[in-house]
Formats: sequence, structure tokens, C-alpha cells
Amino acid sequence: MEIVASGIRPTGNLHLGNYFGALQNFVKMQEENHCFFFIADYHSLTTHPTPGDLHGNVKNVLAEFLASGLDPEKATIYVQSDLPETAELYLLLNMNAYIGELERCTSFKEKIRTQPQNVNAGLLTYPTLMAADIIIHKANKVPVGKDQEQHLEMTRTFVNRFNRIYKVDYFPEPVAYNFGETLIKIPGLDGSLKMSKSANEVSAIFLADSPDVIRKKVMRAVTDSGPVDPNKPRSQGVENLFSLLSYFSDPQTNTHFNESYLAGTIRYGDLKKQLAEDIIRFTAPFREKIIALTSDNEYLKKVAALGAEKARVSARKTVREVREIIGFKSF
Ligand code: AMP
Repeated sequence: MEIVASGIRPTGNLHLGNYFGALQNFVKMQEENHCFFFIADYHSLTTHPTPGDLHGNVKNVLAEFLASGLDPEKATIYVQSDLPETAELYLLLNMNAYIGELERCTSFKEKIRTQPQNVNAGLLTYPTLMAADIIIHKANKVPVGKDQEQHLEMTRTFVNRFNRIYKVDYFPEPVAYNFGETLIKIPGLDGSLKMSKSANEVSAIFLADSPDVIRKKVMRAVTDSGPVDPNKPRSQGVENLFSLLSYFSDPQTNTHFNESYLAGTIRYGDLKKQLAEDIIRFTAPFREKIIALTSDNEYLKKVAALGAEKARVSARKTVREVREIIGFKSF
């Protein structure tokens, strides 16, 4: 049985991109693997959430994990900060992580560009915290999107370095979980290539959005002034709407709008109305479950406690053994 580990940062509600790119796959994986899925709240501190928002965000993501079909009996679902062993392993790994290699990380360079006012050490050492999350359970498979591949490569570097420095064969080298098909990327409503919560307000549709909010967002999606030449490539905004239509609407609807685009008779407003209703139909069951779960604090508390208890078993063992390997001894 493979050991799988993956987390999602609680920086807001989960959107359709998170569902198709991550959660949907997590749900499949939990059937055949020993899975650890966590809410990466330590990681979320790199962008300084206010203390008043932190717990609410964690709670929402936990409810959204469960509403999406993650099963606390099958997988170990936990909150990262409930496992302080991760922080200790992160500290130990940082001693053998070099500034140069951390600075070369694409995601770090990107953050220097996007949040120049807050280039903190947590951002620089994001890859060592991610490595700690993975190797604390000795995971060998990690479901990652394209943007996380470099971080996984760094985890392998840290693992190999640890094994070499201490002359042990302790940590396994984790590899990307192969889904046997290309990963789905959900585009944004703002014409961006990837739906994202941080891009801006209108890019993402959240699993918990109400029908009215979904209608408003879809109606405001970026398009163009119409198909000037239907044989030329479509503008990115329109391309995105067609791509969303292919995920959420039935084949007849897709054929209808593709044909009316080619005929030059398409009205984007009609396409958006249809797409909004189809997305609402898709998200409705998730939304219902999220609302029910969010109001059941006792249940969420039980799930988080069970997850922490299960995760602690491997975490404590790993940290104890790593301390021994490094040379810490009690008197
Ligand atoms: P993030 O929201 O960046 O923390 O992403 C959490 C997870 O969702 C990661 O595994 C991402 O690869 C995945 N994800 C985020 N946005 C999208 C998207 N637009 N399409 C597909 N997967 C996504």
C-alpha cells in the first residue's frame, strides 16, 4: 500500500479548481492508499492572516474536505498545526537546506514579485515545511499540480541529503502521484488560465457559493465583442467559458454553443446563463453539505481530533527516530 500525503492551505473557501485539481483525486486515492490529507494552516501564515480569520478558514476547509467526499475513517484528515512534530522536523531540515537553493525556487521568486512588502523567512523555507509534511509520514506518493513539482523535487533533495549526511537509508524518496491522465486545470472567469482565489474576486467560483452569487460571477465573466472571424482562435475569456462548459454542461449544450459560435450568431449572455445554471446544479449538493457540516461544530471537532490522533502515531515515531539519527540523546 502506498503512503500518500497532501495538504491545502486554508486561505479562503475552496473553489472549483481545487475540487477538480485536488479533492476529486483525493477522494479516489483514499480507497486504495494510506492517505494523509491536511489543512496547511502553518503554511497559510506566510501571508499573515488575521488571528480572527484563521480558525474560521480552517473550519471551512475541513467542512469542504468532508463535503467533497473525504472520509475520516478511510483517510487521516488533520490540521497541520495539531501536529507540532511537523514544526520540529521543519527546524531540523532547515539546518541542511541552503539559502541559494531556496532562493532559486520559482514560487519564491514569484512571491517576491507579488508581495514585495512581505518577503518573510517562512516563504523562503516553504519547501522545507512542505518536505516535513511529506516525510513525517514517510510518504512515497504526493499528488501535486504542475506548480508544485519543483517543491517535490526539493523534498527529494532534502531526503537524499539527510540519508547521505547521516549515512542512513531512512527516508524514502517521494514521487508525484500518477493519475494515469493529464491533470485537469480549471480556468478563471477573469480570463486567467487558472481559476484562483487570490487572483481577484471574480476569477473563482467557490463550492459554497449561493446560486445568486454564481449567476452574478458568471454573467460578469470576461468575453469579447463577438466572433469577428470564427476561424481565428477564440479570445482567452471566451475560450475559458467554452472550457468550463465542457466540464459542467451536457454534450448537446456544448455542440449548440460551439455551432452558434462558428455561425457567428452566438450571444455570450445565453451561454453564460446556461453555464451558470449548470454550475449551480453541480455545486448544489456540495453547498448543502458544507452548510450542514459548518453548523455541526461537535462533529468537526471529533473529525479533527481523530485525524490528529492518527497522524501523531507516524509523526512521533519519525521525529523520535530522526532525533536519534542526528545524535540527540537523553541523559
Ligand atoms: P491552492 O488553492 O493554490 O492552495 O491549491 C490547492 C490545490 O488545488 C493544489 O493541488 C492545486 O494544484 C489545485 N488547484 C488550484 N487551482 C486549480 C485550478 N484552477 N485547476 C486545477 N487545480 C487547481
